[in-house]
Amino acid sequence: MLTDRFGRTVDYLRLSVTDRCDFRCVYCMAEEMTFLPRAEVLTLEELQRVAAAFVALGVRRIRLTGGEPLVRRGIEQLAAGISALPGLDELTLTTNGARLRQFARPLRDAGVRRLNISLDSLDPQRFATLTRTGQLADVIDGIQAAREAGFQRIRLNSVILRGRNDDEVPGLVDFALHNDCDIAFIEEMPLGQIAEHSRGEAFVSSAELRELIAARFELLPATDVTAGPSRYWQVAGSKRRVGFISPHSHNFCHLCNRVRVTVEGRLLLCLGNEHSVDLKPLLREFPEDDQPLREAIVAAMAIKPERHHFSHEPEEQLVRFMNMTGG
Ligand code: SAM
Ligand code: SF4
Repeated sequence: MLTDRFGRTVDYLRLSVTDRCDFRCVYCMAEEMTFLPRAEVLTLEELQRVAAAFVALGVRRIRLTGGEPLVRRGIEQLAAGISALPGLDELTLTTNGARLRQFARPLRDAGVRRLNISLDSLDPQRFATLTRTGQLADVIDGIQAAREAGFQRIRLNSVILRGRNDDEVPGLVDFALHNDCDIAFIEEMPLGQIAEHSRGEAFVSSAELRELIAARFELLPATDVTAGPSRYWQVAGSKRRVGFISPHSHNFCHLCNRVRVTVEGRLLLCLGNEHSVDLKPLLREFPEDDQPLREAIVAAMAIKPERHHFSHEPEEQLVRFMNMTGG
């Protein structure tokens, strides 16, 4: 088992399979991005080895993310390989949804059980502005394809920015309920330097969003409490839930059960800190032997920070973008 200095057990890995993306969401990326050279990126075989090492050490849940996981060629084969690892309880994936018409069924067949799909606006023009390159119709069709493919649960993720899409919150909840999806509202996090808007001015707290939603929908505290950072509310008269991920206004670090691996093979111990261990040299120096890899993962638990310190202050922005982090 992986346990850190603060007694937290790590049983959840978020594995980034690419830093690339077909969107350029304003809070996630700069308009002009330089992506990693191919040689820096872990191969599918290396990603599989990383997943296998974590599962051998007690990780029970893996989420594939990025960048946009569906732009990585061979994602279905990777998903099939990881979901077959003995000891893994659940493989999930986070996507912008634009390619789900093509990939939903193959991913379901490959053993992906649940999907998170990002959706910040139901207005085509606004969607195009927020994602810079995305088309709303593709994502709506992708959500439909995911429902047809029979995933156990689909959760929509919305990042709400004041003055940009905060007026859409009730509409997004309505859309989720009508499409049999849960929905989670995520506070924007200061990851990467963006010029496009002021993160401080755009910030909307989860408490404010919950009040806004409660004016339209009856929210009951959800009974099944999850270990993750989302706090859920049941919508009265529906099976669906509304969640809030509030890194600013509600610190959930004491419950943290997760680590991330970037597509360069950097093991990140905390979303909001730079503490990391480079696993790539071990993967490449010992292509036939996973023991050094496993030892490095166990040793890394000693540097998992106690908590993050997110702030709206520009000088305290972290340089690492979310697409590099593995969102
Ligand atoms: N491309 C996929 C997608 O958009 O779902 C997966 C990767 S994306 C980085 C994962 C999630 O992180 C998305 O729901 C996105 O909205 C969110 N995200 C990106 N940048 C963020 C930021 N600065 N603060 C909060 N959430 C962010
Ligand atoms: Fe791409 Fe997802 Fe980042 Fe948007 S949030 S730019 S879809 S990685």
